[in-house]
Amino acid sequence: MTPKQRIEQLRELLEQYNYEYYVLDAPTVSDGEYDRLMQELIILEKDHPQFYDPFSPSLRVGGEVAEGFEKVSHRRQMISLDNAFNETDLRDFDRRVKTLLDVKEVSYVAELKIDGLAISLDYSNGLLNYAATRGDGETGENVTANIKTIKSIPLKIKESASLEVRGEVYMPKSSLEKLNEKQTSEGKPLFANTRNAAAGTIRNLDSTIAASRNLNAYWYYFVNAEEFGINTHMEALEYLEKLGFRTNKLRKLCHSIEEVIDFVNENATKRHELDYDIDGIVIKVNNLESWETLGMTAKSPRWAIAFKFPPEEVITELLDITFTVGRTGKITPNAVLAPVRVAGSLVQRATLHNEDFIISRDLEIGDKVIIRKAGDIIPEVVAKVNKEPSKNKFVMVKHCPRCSHELKQIDAHHFCLNELCPARKIEGLIHFASRNAMDIEGLGEKAVELFFNEGFISDIPSIYELSKYRDEIINVEGYSTKSTDKLLNAIETSKSQSLERLLFGLGIKEVGVKTARTLATKYGDLNAFFNVSIEEYQQIPDIGPVVASSLFDYFNNETNREMIKRLALLGVNFKYSGPAIIEDTPFSGKIIVLTGTLSTMSRSEAGELLQQYGAKIRSSVSKATDLVIYGESAGSKLTKAEELGIKTMNDAEFKELLDKIKGE
Ligand code: NAD
Repeated sequence: MTPKQRIEQLRELLEQYNYEYYVLDAPTVSDGEYDRLMQELIILEKDHPQFYDPFSPSLRVGGEVAEGFEKVSHRRQMISLDNAFNETDLRDFDRRVKTLLDVKEVSYVAELKIDGLAISLDYSNGLLNYAATRGDGETGENVTANIKTIKSIPLKIKESASLEVRGEVYMPKSSLEKLNEKQTSEGKPLFANTRNAAAGTIRNLDSTIAASRNLNAYWYYFVNAEEFGINTHMEALEYLEKLGFRTNKLRKLCHSIEEVIDFVNENATKRHELDYDIDGIVIKVNNLESWETLGMTAKSPRWAIAFKFPPEEVITELLDITFTVGRTGKITPNAVLAPVRVAGSLVQRATLHNEDFIISRDLEIGDKVIIRKAGDIIPEVVAKVNKEPSKNKFVMVKHCPRCSHELKQIDAHHFCLNELCPARKIEGLIHFASRNAMDIEGLGEKAVELFFNEGFISDIPSIYELSKYRDEIINVEGYSTKSTDKLLNAIETSKSQSLERLLFGLGIKEVGVKTARTLATKYGDLNAFFNVSIEEYQQIPDIGPVVASSLFDYFNNETNREMIKRLALLGVNFKYSGPAIIEDTPFSGKIIVLTGTLSTMSRSEAGELLQQYGAKIRSSVSKATDLVIYGESAGSKLTKAEELGIKTMNDAEFKELLDKIKGE
């Protein structure tokens, strides 16, 4: 293909994608793929200027005005932003800005790039006139009725001023979850992500829909700030806040591009803790006068750039659906995918959770599907791309794929209830040896499967008899005398682990790490559990009837009793050796949330310490929270605590209090 042909092909393709994304709110390719094609076009156009076309998608803002909405002409063009994909792009931007301004140093404001829909608010004499979408940049859609349903948006501001404010309307992640649950129960199609859901809601002609969907907004651009004597973007944001606009506090004034890069890197991981999606960081020159000097290109201002995080959503093919059996017998359907890179790693499998998950997405082998991978989270199939109904409706398996035992459906899941199912046994053994349980290095998934299939191990106590097979293991491919002895040593050492790890490792239904710890501190010895009644368990805070009866059943089951006896004979420690709860501290009984980076210890260390001091640690802030302890770069949890009026304590105060407790 000649460069000309490729340029034309790319322009056509990108126009089509723009239409699907901006007008239909139903993209058929991932943002990462779109950005990649756009970059290819930009480079080709740069290398072949003879094919210049002012209508190229690389030179214009993507949207259009949908039918049914009144049109609004923007007072000032609403444009897009140039993109940066790596540190080099950011340094190039910095260099360009400095050259154009002819200065050595520039301050920037780095802000989170909220993944939603750009909206402009127009106020006259302090009253909201109209709200408009960006549209094609010149003309947008009048969406005032829908925007008014967002409670945080002031309809009247604190000054009788005339101004224009721009920002992003978004759907919180938690709202999308709820919305998709509702869509499922009503048999309606699911929204692929928060961006599409927000855009689809705001661009819906029926405003009762917007009112029911819990959208929110952050405002990041005070268009006529200079009329208010404001000199910097940071001041503009502060002024907006004073007027009653919601601005995002997670912003930073950076005095160099290196500081900007640090902010980008910090937030690349922190983004997963937020209740809204961000797809990058926007960097703006702080001085407003410089904005005038730098000016704009046809599509974007020269005083700002959007750093895009590596894509976490890609599109690939669903090759097969397979089933795995968990420790509890739970059957999980998995997607086998055409290998694809997502957020830097190769993905070939993704969980499909259960039958309902597949049916609600109407998935069929051969579909093109959107895959998402957020942080450490297991990749997930978001939706299929093709909209036609599947030809072969999914049918859940009826028998265990490993032992052929008939499956039983309990709520949304299917279970193999055969206690002797080899797949369940293997999973149970993997769990016993795992990091939060007995933490046996070298006894991971592969090793357990191998030893189980070879007949070296069959149940938990047999792990402690594995040394009988030392010679055989040494002869297995991949093992040497050294690695075998190392493994056997790790098994031996694990015998002295504290009770909470053993309890968790036994894999008692409903007993997670936290419950195991609570039980271990309370009873101190595994033998004590043989005499506890359901009622007694229920008196322990945080233990409800389901956990209580699961514990009772487990310790009264003859096979389990025998197994525990064997563990005792093999010399496994049954006693709790962790720290006892220290009573009457300022943290006793308090529900505490930790957020941000603490200076003297990690969050999990702080959590452990606080639990010793009698606190309960929770991962999210709610009305029930007593205290939020925050370190540097604290995010939405701190904001939420402030909004709810919950007591907060900074890193230094926390340290001081700890020192005081220790000193007393
Ligand atoms: P953009 O996403 O590159 O960035 C500009 C937008 O960022 C602004 O218009 C504003 O809405 C938003 N923004 C969020 N937080 C901001 C902040 N703090 N300050 C300033 N702006 C902020 O540009 P775009 O033109 O809105 O969209 C283009 C992108 O959309 C593409 O790069 C691609 O990722 C995606 N897209 C995807 C498809 C598809 O088919 N998948 C099609 C078209 C566009």
